[in-house]
Parts: sequence; structure tokens; C-alpha cells
Amino acid sequence: QRVGFALVGIGKLTAEELIPAARISEEAYIAALVTSEEDKGEAFARAFNLTEGDVYSYEEFDRLAERDDVEAVYIVLPNSLHREYAVRAAQMGKHVLCEKPLSVNVEDAQAIVDACQEAGVKLMTAYRCQYTPEHWAAREAVQGGALGKVKLLDSIHVQVEDDPEAWRLKRDLAGGGPVPDVGIYCLNTLRFVLGQEPQWVFAAQHQPGGDPRFREVEESVSFMLGFPGGVIANALTSYGAYKTTTLRVLGEDGSLLMDPAFPYEGLKVQISDKAGKREPSFPDYNQFGLEFDHFARCIRQDQTPWTPGEEGVQDHVIMAAIYESARTGRVVELPKVDGQDAFR
Ligand code: NAD
Repeated sequence: QRVGFALVGIGKLTAEELIPAARISEEAYIAALVTSEEDKGEAFARAFNLTEGDVYSYEEFDRLAERDDVEAVYIVLPNSLHREYAVRAAQMGKHVLCEKPLSVNVEDAQAIVDACQEAGVKLMTAYRCQYTPEHWAAREAVQGGALGKVKLLDSIHVQVEDDPEAWRLKRDLAGGGPVPDVGIYCLNTLRFVLGQEPQWVFAAQHQPGGDPRFREVEESVSFMLGFPGGVIANALTSYGAYKTTTLRVLGEDGSLLMDPAFPYEGLKVQISDKAGKREPSFPDYNQFGLEFDHFARCIRQDQTPWTPGEEGVQDHVIMAAIYESARTGRVVELPKVDGQDAFR
């Protein structure tokens, strides 16, 4: 039986990606939507193939408790609202799938993890790039030895944010600038392909004066991560440069390039070594469909999601260190974490 989800927040991602993805899922379906009072209405419900009774306003959120068919809640709101709605969902006994970044700081992210644990519900951070075959091929090339001993990595995720009124540029709502929004893909993917945690961070940032977009948050950040064994990774993230998303891994015997690395479709992974270049190809898939299916299966089979809340908290720990390093100009040591895939 498919798992019924309530989607909370009907912005661009929900309307353009999540609802279409859920429609083709064999393991999940949309049972309810939570949106603003103005949007809640018959026409809106019809547009999404639901009845008026399935559409709730934010004020009516707690009424989802009456809906046994809503087993999971997917939080797709501005980052600072994730904590409130995730905690309330957990307290209603609903499983929680939460968009990245998990929250706006370590404390709020940890509060979500704690609330879900206390309520005995599952929590997954929606890191879609940890579910694609291309990212798994990259991880396998790195960890399976195809590149030899890995020495260096770099990753870029930049795009232009041109609306000065966007919530993404408000510190209270977003928790930062490009780092928690797009730089997090570099950070999370570097950790994912290596399966290791960085030991230190060094960063620099630029916040231009006189540009209304960057009154509250930075425009660009460059951060460096030191991983065990002397492996060094560099990342660039910005709201001021033309959309570019890449991941590169350099090993003793080969190298790997993902370009593009992070869009919703059209990912490419190219592996080069002495034998030449190869570019594996994969059957079509929908990234959000893979996420819905994974979380639904975890619920049905009582398993921990591959990207649990703890994964989201760890990225907040590292992002806080990135900002601290950029502010102080010093290397920031990270809490010691041992082992492979330590947060699963
Ligand atoms: P959006 O601006 O398109 O939509 C946000 C929704 O939240 C809207 O429905 C808006 O009405 C509602 N909202 C409620 N309170 C609000 C408030 N105080 N201010 C502004 N909006 C408010 O945003 P989005 O792009 O859908 O992003 C939502 C979440 O999804 C964010 O956490 C973002 O990081 C994440 N996201 C993830 C991906 C991905 O690829 N995984 C892509 C885009 C966004």
C-alpha cells in the first residue's frame, strides 16, 4: 500500500517537481497539501487533483492528526520554518521528510532530530543527490579504487539570485546566503563520495556593499575541507555567477568529473584513466521520485533512511565552521568523527 504524504509549502519546488514526481510513484502519493489561507480553495485543490477537504491552511496544520491516511509530512518551506513544522508533525506521529538544509543552524537542526526520535517517527533529510545512479557511480569509483588513492577534490555550485526580495536573501529565513542553499550540495556530495568526515575547514567570503541583494547575506564563499589522510577538497559557491555545478575527484591513477553535477536531470559522470575516458549511462529516473520511494520503503519496512536527520545536522556543524573561518580568517577544527559513513 502506498504511503500518503502531506506536502507543506506549495512553492516552485513542490508545484513543478514534487507533485509530478509523486504522481508517478508506485510507493508514495499526495494525500494532502498545506498552503496559505489565500491559496486554499477549490480551484487550487482541483489544479492538484485533490478535493477541497485535502487542502489545509498553515493554521489548520494540526488537523492532519485526524488524517490516518497521511503517514508522512514533507516540509518544503523556507529553511527557518522547517523546525516548527517538523517538530509539530513528529508530535502528531507523522514521519518527516524535510528539505535541505535541515534547518538554519545546528541547534534547530538537532531539535528536529530529537523531536523525531522522541516521537518514534522517521526523519529523512531530502538530499536528492545521494539517490542518483550518477552520484553512486562517482562514489563507487572513489571508494572502489578505480581512481587509485584519492588526493584532491573540487566542487562548484553557483547561480544568480537576482530578486532582492527573495526569502533566500533574508538571513532570518534562509540562515545564510549561497552556502546553505547551493554550497550545501558541494559539501554534502564531497562527504558522500568519500564516506568520510572533514577534520578542518578554511574559508573566505565576499559580501559586496551597495548591492541590495546582499544586505544580509554573503554573495560568494570559497571553502576548503581537510579530510583524513591528507585529502583536500575545495568548494566554490555564489549567488552572483552563471549557473555552474561540478564535482571533480583527482586520484593517483585516474580522475572523475561530474559536469553538470547537481541539476534535476541530465547529470554526467566521466571517469578518465590510462585506459581512456568512459561515461556510464543509466536508465531514466526522476530524482524526487527516487526520494519519495526510498522514504516510503523505509516507513513500510521500518528502516532508517539513507540520509537521516543526523546527516543534515552534520552539514550544519560544518557550515557553522565555514562561516566562523570566513569571519576569523583562521582554520577551524571540526569535532572528531571516526569511521565510514558515520552519520548513518
Ligand atoms: P519557494 O519560495 O518557491 O516556496 C516557499 C513556500 O513557502 C511558498 O509556498 C510560500 O508561500 C511558503 N511560505 C510560508 N511562509 C513563508 C514565509 N514566511 N516566507 C516565504 N515563503 C513562505 O521556495 P522553494 O524553492 O520551494 O524552497 C522551499 C524549500 O525547499 C527550501 O528549504 C529549499 O532549500 C528547498 N529546495 C530544495 C531543492 C532541491 O533540489 N532539493 C530545490 C529548491 C528548493
